[in-house]
Amino acid sequence: MILPIIAYGDPVLKKVGVDINKEYPQLDGLIDNMFETMYNAYGVGLAAQQIGLAIRLFVVDTTPFSEDEDLSAEEQKTLSGFKRVFINAKITKEEGDEWAFNEGCLSIPEVREDVFRKPTITISYLDENFEPHTEVFSGLVARVIQHEYDHIEGILFTDKLSSLKKRLIKGRLTNISKGKIDVDYRMRFPDQKKKR
Ligand code: ZN
Repeated sequence: MILPIIAYGDPVLKKVGVDINKEYPQLDGLIDNMFETMYNAYGVGLAAQQIGLAIRLFVVDTTPFSEDEDLSAEEQKTLSGFKRVFINAKITKEEGDEWAFNEGCLSIPEVREDVFRKPTITISYLDENFEPHTEVFSGLVARVIQHEYDHIEGILFTDKLSSLKKRLIKGRLTNISKGKIDVDYRMRFPDQKKKR
C-alpha cells in the first residue's frame, strides 16, 4: 500500500525515533509499505518519520543511483541492488574529509542543495529479521544512509544548510508546508490538514 509522505513542516519530522522490538505491530507489512511508497516516489530511502511514525526504522534501495554513468563501474556495482532495512540503527563513527552532494528529500519536493558530510560511516543496526549487523559504508551508499539516519534523529537536510541558504529557500519551504506544490506522489501537508 502506498502511504502519503509527510511534508516539510509537520512536527513528526522533528521527532527523534524510539527503538522498536519484534512485537511492533504489523512490522513486516509496514516495511513492505515503506518500500512501495519509496519506489512509487522514485526515492532511494525512506524513514518512518516520513510516513508519520517517530520510530528508529528506515529503508534504503540505492539501485536508481547505479544508473548514473558518471560513476565508476565499481561504484555502480555497489549501488545496484543495495536494498536494506535498518532498525534501531546507531552510527558509531563518521570519518574522512567532508564532501558535498546535492541532496533532495521526498518530504521536501523540488528543493535540492549541497550538503557536506563525511564519506565513511560505521553503523550498527538490526535487519528486518532482527539480526544484528555492524558495517562500514562509504560513498553514495553512506550518503543515503546518513540522510535517512538524520530523519530518525529528527533532522532534515535543510537543517544542515548555512543561514544564508536557509533564508533563500524559506519561502519555498513555507509553500511546501501549505501544500502549494505540484507533486506526483501522495503527500500529507501539515497546514492544509489544519484548514479542513
Ligand atoms: Zn529525506
